[in-house]
Formats: sequence, structure tokens, C-alpha cells
Amino acid sequence: MTSSNVLISGAGVAGTTLAELLTRSGHRVTIVERAPALRHTGYAVDFRGAAFDVLSELGILDDVRRHDTKMTGTAIVDRDGVQVDLLPAEAFAGELEVPKHVLNELLYDLTADHVEYRFDTSITSLTQTEAAVTAELTDGSTETYDLVFGADGVYSKVRQLAFAPHSDVLQHLGLSGAGFTMPNFLDLDHSGLLRAADGTAVYLFSSADPDRLTVSLSFGTTSGALDRLPRADQEAATRAAFAGDAWHTPRLLEAMSEASDFYFSSSTQVQLDRWSTGRIALVGDAGYCAAPTAGMGTSQALLGARSLARHLTDAAYPEAFAEYEAELRPYVTENQANGRSAAAMFGGARD
Ligand SMILES: Cc1cc2nc3c(=O)[nH]c(=O)nc-3n(C[C@H](O)[C@H](O)[C@H](O)COP(=O)(O)OP(=O)(O)OC[C@H]3O[C@@H](n4cnc5c(N)ncnc54)[C@H](O)[C@@H]3O)c2cc1C
Repeated sequence: MTSSNVLISGAGVAGTTLAELLTRSGHRVTIVERAPALRHTGYAVDFRGAAFDVLSELGILDDVRRHDTKMTGTAIVDRDGVQVDLLPAEAFAGELEVPKHVLNELLYDLTADHVEYRFDTSITSLTQTEAAVTAELTDGSTETYDLVFGADGVYSKVRQLAFAPHSDVLQHLGLSGAGFTMPNFLDLDHSGLLRAADGTAVYLFSSADPDRLTVSLSFGTTSGALDRLPRADQEAATRAAFAGDAWHTPRLLEAMSEASDFYFSSSTQVQLDRWSTGRIALVGDAGYCAAPTAGMGTSQALLGARSLARHLTDAAYPEAFAEYEAELRPYVTENQANGRSAAAMFGGARD
């Protein structure tokens, strides 16, 4: 394909990887990112299977390996905290796990000098003709592109504008959860602890920073509506779900209010019949999120971006988009099935 002028919405793993690979084959890429700067939120991301090939192709595999959190395993405890089982590291940390901000920074550094980043900017409208796509942006500008990609996560704006409303494509898995870090009062050492009781689950781990404990408090919900509410509402719902729970839970809830890195998300899948429409396509969580319980978000984003970029090197967009989807769909279908089963294990809806 000849060199195209490309707009990507979202500077996450999918967006930055796609940007890098497209610029290597001569395309000009602009990324709009809603956040005012590179995001440092999130805890750890892991990689499985063919995702390693993509890291290698990007030239960052050794750098990523240097930041391995070196998790050893996760103890399953009963409601009194007594260990009843031990899960191997791979269960939660894949074949390699690194702090999320490390991956974001590596991908940003790789692309910053040849990709145009526009932070604090989103798309407000998309109009496409046979020849081009016109995008209106929140900074008041209007620009025309050959191709537009939505790499803007579960609540993708591109998907909402060009495909379907959130309510038609988001499948809630019956589970939501708060995450934050606090001092490592349990002295966990590159290890985790999982306690599931009464439809709630507490997952604690300490890895890259031995002084900090990462806390995940999940509980059953009937929709993902809490994701879009203010933090105070998310905390209140978490507190209500864990009310009366003993063990370390009161201490964890207290630390939640003080946390500066509080993060809330639901286990939600994105189910779409097709990942492209005309000159617009979706990649990563925006197109086919398998839910955090699948543990495949980062691998899917890397593999999806590479597949899309490769097919665009060999063919024009309608064929390239169809081949991308044909190649990736079976992998996504399997990951989504695993995401649903794992959500049930944490107290969410059953498959
Ligand atoms: C804040 C945050 C924390 C996370 N923490 C973890 C974690 O601890 N562990 C884990 O395994 N996974 C985590 N994830 C999910 C994980 O990053 C993804 O599943 C995976 O990396 C796939 O990446 P993606 O690029 O498809 O989507 P995402 O990582 O969700 O990236 C999407 C990007 O698009 C941007 N965006 C959203 N809306 C717009 C818009 N309207 N306009 C422009 N930009 C927009 C977002 O700010 C984000 O930078 C987190 C995601 C986010 C957003």
C-alpha cells in the first residue's frame, strides 16, 4: 500500500505499537490521547505466547525483560487466611510480567520522534467518504486522514462514533473491582495471595517494589456502570460489598481511601461482529477486549497491532482489514471464553 496519513485514537499498547509498525512501512501517524500526558496508572501487565515475537520485532524485548517483576506464585487462602493451595506464577503473571508504566514508557520512547502525539485531545466526530475520513477534534481542529484507528480502550470513542453505542457491544461479566497500592504490611515477597469468599475476592501481591502491596478488591455487580462514576461512588460500592468482612479487609478498605493510585474497572468484554467499517478499524481492547480476567489484554493489543500493520503493508485497506480480522478472530474468541470462565472463579457471572 502507498504511504497513508493515519490517525490513531489512544496512546495505550495497541495505539503506540500500531503507530510504530505503520511508520516503519512509510505511513505518517498522528496519535490523539485523551489524557494530558503519558499515563502512569495501572499496576502490572503480562505477556504470553506470540506476544514475545512482537516485543522482539519492536526491538524492546531485552528492555522489557530487564523489568521482569519475578513473581513466584500466588497462595490461595480460605476466609481465615489459611493457605489451601498454591498457584504458579504464570496464573497471574503470564510468562513475563512488568510494571505497566514501564511498557508505556518504552513504547512512547520508541515512537516519540517520528509519531505526532497530541495529548489532551480526543475525536468528537468522524465522517467518511470513499476517499477519506474527516475527524473533528476537541482542540477545535478538523483534519482529513486516509485511515483512522480506534485504539482507545474498552470505552472507545471511535467505536461509539463509527460502529455502535456502548450498550450494544459491552458484555459485563458480573464483576467489578477497585485497585490501589499500600505499604507492604504482609511482607509479601514477589508473591501473591488470593482470598475468595461470599462473592468477593481479595487479591494482594508485591513484586517490583518490595515496599508496596498491590490490592485488588473485586465483587459481583450487575453492570459496568460504576466504571464511569466518580471515585467516591466506586469506593462506596466497594465498601458496601466488603461490609462486615473480617481478616485484613478493614485495613485494606482504610488504605483504599488514602491511595493516590486508586483505579476501578469492571470485567467487561467487547463483542463486535466486525472490527472495521470503511476506512476505520479497531485494535486492542477497543475492538475485542477479553476482560482483565483473561489476562490477555496486552498480548492481544500487541498481536492485533502487528497483524493490522502487516496486512496493511501487503494490501489496500478493505482487504487488509478483512485479513487482519480473519487472522486474529480465533485467538480472540478463545481468550474471551477464558475471560468468562475466570470471571466466574472470582465471583462473577457464569458462562
Ligand atoms: C488506566 C488503565 C490502567 C490499567 N491497568 C491495568 C493493569 O494494572 N493490569 C492489566 O493487565 N491491564 C491494565 N489495563 C488494561 C490494559 O492496559 C489493556 O488491557 C491492554 O494493555 C490493551 O491495551 P489497549 O491499548 O487496547 O487499551 P488501553 O490500555 O485501555 O489504552 C487505551 C488508551 O486510549 C486512551 N483513550 C481512551 N479514550 C480516549 C478518547 N476518547 N480519546 C483519546 N484517547 C482515549 C486511554 O487514555 C488509553 O491511553 C489498564 C488500562 C488503563 C486505561
